[in-house]
Amino acid sequence: MSQAVRAELKIRVDALRARGVIPRLDVLVAIQDPSSIAYVNMKRKWAEAIGIEGESFEISDATSQDELLERILKLNADKRVHGVLIQHPLPKHLDEPEALMTLGAAKDVDGITPQSLGRLVSDLPGFRCATPLGITKIIDHYEIPVEGKRAVVIGRSVILGKPMALMLLQKNATVTIAHSRTQNLQDLCRDADILVAAVGRPEMIKGNWIKPGAVVIDAGYNKVEGRKGDVGDVHFEGAAEVASWITPVPGGVGPMTVASLLSNAVEAAEATLA
Ligand code: NAP
Repeated sequence: MSQAVRAELKIRVDALRARGVIPRLDVLVAIQDPSSIAYVNMKRKWAEAIGIEGESFEISDATSQDELLERILKLNADKRVHGVLIQHPLPKHLDEPEALMTLGAAKDVDGITPQSLGRLVSDLPGFRCATPLGITKIIDHYEIPVEGKRAVVIGRSVILGKPMALMLLQKNATVTIAHSRTQNLQDLCRDADILVAAVGRPEMIKGNWIKPGAVVIDAGYNKVEGRKGDVGDVHFEGAAEVASWITPVPGGVGPMTVASLLSNAVEAAEATLA
């Protein structure tokens, strides 16, 4: 599915280039964080493959808050730049919320600034967070019925759990958000027609937590010592026996997150022609 999205985006990028617009996505990334570097390299590679250009700015332990904000303001003002990704997390000494508030909503193609999130809450158009947006694209593509269904989202992070719950609510699901203080989590999950795992705990959700026929979406992406590759929040083999649909890790939500980020970036570039 992500390949199909990228193929469609390539056509739109070619059309933009033919009209003299070179889509550009710039990135701010913490250079000392190997996971962030790996994620950004992957996003950059996919972007380049469809003709989106961009520059990565390294944020280090030596970068001051003023330098960070100055860089963001420059990117806001640079007409050649259509989208800016501030890869989470920035180094701890920096004020990340202030950085996000400084980024202009028109360039927030990752959909994680307070402005973009406010637009989501208010049902206004705007860029949506890439990971939950990718998940809604999966739901739409496979024509998963959502209206009136019970959805449980485990996790309440600003970039994933909360916006995911809101997007499911917009699709008329009855949504429950679970978190680390939720009681009787397993019973709650067993009641879900749609279960979205956004926890960050490898294989925490077992097959016997899942209602037979439920749709299971695993956004988890975890490293486990001694195991090769990445592991989801759901125990795939157990869950696949009872679920009607399930996303694998890797190869499920991850590629759709990148595809959604690029889709937002292309939209931002197209908006300059409007
Ligand atoms: P996060 O900010 O750490 O949030 C995790 C959430 O899970 C929190 O709300 C936390 O509750 C909740 N939680 C933790 N332990 C729990 C437990 N035992 N029972 C119930 N809830 C629990 O993580 P995140 O950034 O949302 O990411 C979640 C997962 O998605 C990670 O594996 C991450 O790598 C992955 N991810 C994947 C992509 C992708 O592109 N595929 C993108 C982003 C994230 P509290 O709020 O109470 O602490």
